[in-house]
Amino acid sequence: MYDSIVIGAGVAGSVVARQLAETGNRKVLLLEKRGHIGGNCYDQQDKYGILVHEYGPHIFHTNIEEVFAYLSRFTKWNMYEDGHQVVAKIGDTLLPVPFNLNTLHMVYEKKLADELEEKLIHAYGQGSRVSIMQLRENKDPQIQEIAQFVYENIFLKYTMKQWGQTPEEISPEVTGRVPVLISYDNRYFQDKYQGVPANGFTDMFKNILDHKNLTVQTNTDALKILEFRDQEIYFEGKKFEGDVIFTGALDELYHCQYGRLPYRSLRFDFTHLQTDDFQDGHSVVNYTVSEDFTRITEFKYLTKQKNTNGTTIVREYPFAYTGSAGEIPYYAIMNAENKVLYEKYKALADKINNLHLLGRLAEYQYYNIDVMVSKALKLADTLIR
Ligand code: UDP
Repeated sequence: MYDSIVIGAGVAGSVVARQLAETGNRKVLLLEKRGHIGGNCYDQQDKYGILVHEYGPHIFHTNIEEVFAYLSRFTKWNMYEDGHQVVAKIGDTLLPVPFNLNTLHMVYEKKLADELEEKLIHAYGQGSRVSIMQLRENKDPQIQEIAQFVYENIFLKYTMKQWGQTPEEISPEVTGRVPVLISYDNRYFQDKYQGVPANGFTDMFKNILDHKNLTVQTNTDALKILEFRDQEIYFEGKKFEGDVIFTGALDELYHCQYGRLPYRSLRFDFTHLQTDDFQDGHSVVNYTVSEDFTRITEFKYLTKQKNTNGTTIVREYPFAYTGSAGEIPYYAIMNAENKVLYEKYKALADKINNLHLLGRLAEYQYYNIDVMVSKALKLADTLIR
């Protein structure tokens, strides 16, 4: 009775399910293991009435017009007029991150900062984005000194906490997400559109999934009702010939038969405080040289929620995912060795013509929300055609 089955109700699964149901006019079953939709974007009010992101801060940002227009069908936005801004807490000082020319002038006295600014502009061009790994390769002793400052004060300890490895050991793509900016731009992202859904992410997902051809079943472990055998998929014991889109962890689809794919997980420590403000208006403060947690998010500034009573914050403690019950794999650890292991699992999945892998987990990638939406729209298009 279903034409297609989608596994996982996060960004990837929800968008592809909606498209197959709406544009493809297919009867779609969406299975979700957890008790709620929205994947790690899920938000809800805590017992103090403050909207919190249960799985850490999520911010939508994009330059992709099509993606912004698509999601805008399902939500209004609280846009960040001045962009999302992050600071790093170093002792008692708060420095703008990404490190940019404003940061440079806070760190060095005026004459030296002016000189360094000119050098950076000469080397890389006004307005350019340079990764910390690239900056460290510069041979000029003064630029090397800036690179060393940024490396030690912004990247080293934070990356060690987040990944359990140094910036050199992890994929350059990862630290490259937060470049050094040769401009006076304090925004964390340089995208045109930045913000959060006005009524929260969960509300946006509810609207995405509200379609007559779409059935959502939460609290349902798809791997208990679907079987993936050789070249075929069985649904409730019968061969299923429709498209199946899988957005979960690929190793788990195959019972980790070649060993687990490594992921980083997080423990979230939520605290409610009976005070109006905890971090002086900053939604996110990164702890780049001290503490065991990576960052603190103060939700009222992230969501722009008005008339709150008190404030709720969350601290993030990274750790290595083991696969134990209750743990969540948040980040794929992308390196050559893990890629080889991933490809072994992918070879199994590739044997099944009607199985499609989509998303951070199923593709073992580090996708932002907008890229994920775009990929989900493209996959749906391909399948419908
Ligand atoms: N990073 C860092 N210091 C910072 C911010 C980021 O070292 O203050 C590095 C760190 O390795 C992190 C990566 O850059 O994992 C990507 O950061 P991003 O903010 O994109 O991570 P996310 O918000 O996706 O967890």
